[in-house]
Amino acid sequence: AAVANYSALPQPQTQPNILYTGLFINNEWHKSKSGKTFVTINPTTEQSIAEVQAAGKEDIDVAVKAARDAFKLGSPWRRLDASDRGRLLYRLADLMERDQVYLASLETLDNGKPYSMSYNVDLPMAIKNLRYFAGWADKNHGKTLPMDGDFFAYTRHEPVGVCGQIIPWNFPILMMAWKLGPALATGNTIVLKPAEQTSLTALYIAQLVKEAGFPAGVVNVVPGFGDAGAELSGHSDVDKVAFTGSTDVGKLIQLASGNTNLKRVTLELGGKSPNIVLADSDLDYAVETSHFGLFFNMGQCCCAGSRTFVEDKIYDEFVERSAERAKKRTVGDPFDLNTEQGPQVNEEQMEKILGLIQTGKQQGAKLVAGGSRPENLPGYFVQPTVFADVQDNMTIAREEIFGPVQQLIRFKKLDEVIERANNSEYGLAAAVFTKDIDKANYIVGGLRAGTVWVNTYNALAAQTPFGGYKMSGHGRENGEYALSNYTEVKSVVVKVAQKNS
Ligand code: NAD
Repeated sequence: AAVANYSALPQPQTQPNILYTGLFINNEWHKSKSGKTFVTINPTTEQSIAEVQAAGKEDIDVAVKAARDAFKLGSPWRRLDASDRGRLLYRLADLMERDQVYLASLETLDNGKPYSMSYNVDLPMAIKNLRYFAGWADKNHGKTLPMDGDFFAYTRHEPVGVCGQIIPWNFPILMMAWKLGPALATGNTIVLKPAEQTSLTALYIAQLVKEAGFPAGVVNVVPGFGDAGAELSGHSDVDKVAFTGSTDVGKLIQLASGNTNLKRVTLELGGKSPNIVLADSDLDYAVETSHFGLFFNMGQCCCAGSRTFVEDKIYDEFVERSAERAKKRTVGDPFDLNTEQGPQVNEEQMEKILGLIQTGKQQGAKLVAGGSRPENLPGYFVQPTVFADVQDNMTIAREEIFGPVQQLIRFKKLDEVIERANNSEYGLAAAVFTKDIDKANYIVGGLRAGTVWVNTYNALAAQTPFGGYKMSGHGRENGEYALSNYTEVKSVVVKVAQKNS
């Protein structure tokens, strides 16, 4: 799905202008009240790109107040026709498409992901997501109910109110779109905090929000660190928080809700997704798709197939071919159109991944590709790494690595593999490769995961819900299901003189 069409790829801007580094509140740019700033780093060169304003408590208060004012009864936003909310979202999508080369270039500069991917995957998916939810704006309606007694009863789907949205650095633009689309389609107002590693594209899109014509205060974007996110999730005037990131922080966010106003919380957290390859599958295809399922986006995917269970009969062959494929993966300058893999997002992530690779070796897994930083490259690169003979209890088979490190695990029986696949605190995604439909259906039914792919991986789209079982979070993004996370249902019961059927 995510294969780049190089001939259609316009040249990137390797030095995109940095236009916005402030706090976007009430459709205006502000400095942080404390005067604090932070530097955002280019992970390919380890050089600083720009200094960004760092939101603190006072700034979050101002942003939440702006969002609250924009949500007041009678405000321009509350008075807007639902279809016009949709039109604004369509316009925002059009503006992102107009600026696709610039936005994809800026994303690559700040995040390190290959430009071929930011241009061909992140941007189109984000734009489609906004258009998908734009279409929902005037189609998400309540019901009339055959209530007992002399009553006329109906439901209204109302916006939740002021939504805090805290997003990660692995898909900065796409995660922003996943958050904005359903929230704006259903009439909420927003304070969004991008990840400190990758604020720049969110800030540029904030300016596009204004250009599209959204009323002031409907979307506010406040760059900053975890403390700014904590202010949002603990704020008593925020009605809902949507968070994507680590499970540890997800727990803090749910606690903050419980400790304050019981704001609604949706969480999209970590994963350790099983990818089960049966002996009857097309081996070339399964090797390539499993490679893609793990190495896409430098392994920085919450749904990465980081436990690849391979049936005994084909295990050795699968290991050999997977190692070969990983060694061929092109690593380097993300602006080079032939690059498949750029750097990890920052030094901390790179060090964490290298540490887990060491642990894998120490615990007895067999390193068959990669294992260290590439020589002669600055930047936070990690070689495409493959481990064979991985056992279920090893750290690399249990903890989220969030890097280009593939675990190949042997299995013999179907029932055994379902149980082992489910033996994780996570339940975000899973996959099965087989030509036997009965086996596929059996495995699909047995897996405890929010998404199960059959003979594919990372197939995501705006229409299809995405979210986790267990400690991978709760709530669903994308698809019609996402709308319910951004609406309250109000039952209205009206006494009537006489009801007739
Ligand atoms: P993180 O969870 O710390 O950060 C995600 C977002 O939460 C950022 O915007 C951050 O500023 C904010 N945040 C941090 N502390 C907060 C707090 N106490 N309250 C509110 N918001 C807070 O993730 P990270 O440290 O950047 O990455 C650590 C690990 O998380 C990764 O190695 C990976 O395993 C996982 N991760 C998962 C996803 C995902 O898509 N599910 C994305 C990024 C990282």
